[in-house]
Amino acid sequence: MEYKNVIPDYIALKKIYDLQKQHMLLKKIDIAYVGKELVDGIFSNETYYPTTRKCSSSKNQYIFDLYKNVFKCWWGIGNDVYKINKENEELVDSLWKKRQTLNINQCRLCNYRYLCGGGCVGRNMHNNTISCQKGECHNFKEILEIAIKE
Ligand code: SF4
Repeated sequence: MEYKNVIPDYIALKKIYDLQKQHMLLKKIDIAYVGKELVDGIFSNETYYPTTRKCSSSKNQYIFDLYKNVFKCWWGIGNDVYKINKENEELVDSLWKKRQTLNINQCRLCNYRYLCGGGCVGRNMHNNTISCQKGECHNFKEILEIAIKE
């Protein structure tokens, strides 16, 4: 989905690195981006552990609001579809955890699958179920090229 006022992640990353070159103080900021663990691993000679799911909502993330509601995903706080309650506990929880690259048709043969983990789960909630057909791709090729050069 395209948003009018949102720029692609790799363009944002390039702009941030360019700003850091102009303003030394900004060098103190630790920039977070998808794939950072791999790049950091390469340059620090630390092991990168591949993953088949990245989003915390597909693992053991639970978010509690002031009214004792429990949600799996930040994206869906306040939205009943994302809420886990006694009646749907097992079903909803297992749906979220099912979404990983091994189960997503588009991701199974992707070069970046062990880095990506299939992307945002919350954005793949449709009609009270979670899609395992389509990935939520980032521009990994461009992001890694920019980050490794820097
Ligand atoms: S980049 Fe896209 S196709 Fe590749 S693993 Fe991530 S979501 Fe799946």
